[in-house]
Amino acid sequence: MSRPAVELVGITKRFGDVVAVDDLDLTVGDGEFFSLLGPSGCGKTTTLRMIAGFEYPTEGTLKIHGEEMGLRPPNERPVNTVFQSYALFPHMTVADNVAFGLQMRKVPSAEIEARVKRVLDQVQLRHRADAKPSQLSGGQRQRVALARALVNEPEVLLLDEPLGALDLKLRQNMQVELKELQNRVGITFIYVTHDQEEALTMSDRIGVMDEGKLLQVGTPEEIYEGPRSRFVADFIGDINLITATVSGPDRVRLGNGQEIEVRSPGPVGEEVTLALRPERLELYDLDEPMPENHTKLRGKVIRRMYYGDAYFYDVEVGLDHPLEVKEENRPDVETYDMGEETVVCWDPAAVNVVTD
Ligand code: ADP
Ligand code: MG
Repeated sequence: MSRPAVELVGITKRFGDVVAVDDLDLTVGDGEFFSLLGPSGCGKTTTLRMIAGFEYPTEGTLKIHGEEMGLRPPNERPVNTVFQSYALFPHMTVADNVAFGLQMRKVPSAEIEARVKRVLDQVQLRHRADAKPSQLSGGQRQRVALARALVNEPEVLLLDEPLGALDLKLRQNMQVELKELQNRVGITFIYVTHDQEEALTMSDRIGVMDEGKLLQVGTPEEIYEGPRSRFVADFIGDINLITATVSGPDRVRLGNGQEIEVRSPGPVGEEVTLALRPERLELYDLDEPMPENHTKLRGKVIRRMYYGDAYFYDVEVGLDHPLEVKEENRPDVETYDMGEETVVCWDPAAVNVVTD
């Protein structure tokens, strides 16, 4: 990792009896797009507000570019925050909205003009500089809010669910835009969201939080492919969670008595949870040739859902829950009907053993 932009060491925040953030250690690299991902109430906003200086930690130390922030107020920190609810001044033009903060700080007007032009280019709104907020789309208004923060030339930009108020299509477009914008300006982004898709598509790394704790930090691929806990596995994407008992060095026994191969599942006799992504499972006809070393479970299709680009099947295999299987919708992939007998098949390498 490059030099750290933000370092949190042993950060705890209590509000009375509520532990909002619990002994959090995190280092975000310079120029990184880092997302804090977790359900509502897990402590994301509180973490961001402590970095911004709107809240102070109960315990722990917080540094930005190597400098301890202590009780420094927000306006003396090299950060800016973009919130979900961005209040633009309705009677001012886009350019004036962006310039406002600099004018308040008595920055010389020639410099203001140059900086406003530059950020409006960065957010691709130069051609709308003279428009009023009411003449803009929701996405454009959100870009003005971004420009207003970027014009201060923060070393770190903090974003708290900034796309939450936009509808799905616009949100997806803005994900691409935000990522490209961050590449262009090259500053550190710390992005808070409860939306796994946003985190997966934009981030260099993701930190998954639950109940004030940081559970796992990694690249989107590491988090999605290698969740270490049941919570992380379940929070991101669809997943099959199967309880099993370790029966050998590379074997576990499922609830239906069948033994299957799982790499290094843990001590013999221990109960473990196996995590398997639906797209890693394949369906075969009973008499079809199947990959030899793959795990095979016989079952029956009890539900089929069509998603356009894929089919999702629930297959009853005699475990606590049916297995969810995702098959791409391609001419060469066979589809299955309700009630059809089938074999669910997977590469043992696709199985992740997760903790509770
Ligand atoms: P998130 O942004 O992940 O939804 P928050 O950081 O807003 O979570 O909140 C984490 C926890 O701290 C929640 O239980 C919330 O109710 C509590 N909390 C946040 N701010 C305050 C506050 N000012 N006073 C009391 N409790 C708070
Ligand atoms: Mg929040």
